[in-house]
Amino acid sequence: MQLLESRIIRDGKVKDGSILKVDSFLNHQMDIELFGEMAKEFYSLFASENVNKILTIEASGIGIACITAQAFHCPVIFAKKTKTKNIAGDVFTAKVESFTHGVTYDVVVSKEFLSPDDRVLIIDDFLANGAALSGLASIVKDSGATLVGAGIAIEKAFQPGGQMLREKGMRIESLARIKGMSENGVEFC
Ligand code: 5GP
Repeated sequence: MQLLESRIIRDGKVKDGSILKVDSFLNHQMDIELFGEMAKEFYSLFASENVNKILTIEASGIGIACITAQAFHCPVIFAKKTKTKNIAGDVFTAKVESFTHGVTYDVVVSKEFLSPDDRVLIIDDFLANGAALSGLASIVKDSGATLVGAGIAIEKAFQPGGQMLREKGMRIESLARIKGMSENGVEFC
């Protein structure tokens, strides 16, 4: 998506070679007009899939997921991160290793909000090693719902998550795919 790529080039900052900071428009300060354009793109990609739930993970996926849900006219569920060992009964859980914080979280979704009748689209801000997406997909599987695919804002295609999950059959649509990056700039696929 040209608009997102241009914005990454203009305002993105590369840290330590593999972290892209997009705090000024995506995951701290949020450009809602840009999110609206991204939502239209996700809608055109998944419009025929009868999506009735959008699933994301806290915190930085929530904004994009909410604006996307307006296009699909459906609710958003965000998986909650918890470090608590004793998780209350009625939840689906998965372990997710955080790429940016190096911590492993249990992520939980209440069983109340996902069922076999649901057709779920996962939305997230980044795809790197694929831990977040794998965890969310396993929650969808445990619930018996159908996973129609994942819409990702920025995929770092030089990291293994996208290839690994596509090889397992997951449909992943990324609006910007980064081939490589350094302090000198970002190159798209
Ligand atoms: P994965 O689980 O695919 O390794 O990483 C995805 C999650 O890590 C995303 O939900 C995102 O919050 C975070 N993340 C991964 N790479 C980056 C990055 O380069 N920049 C930022 N801001 N977040 C990232």
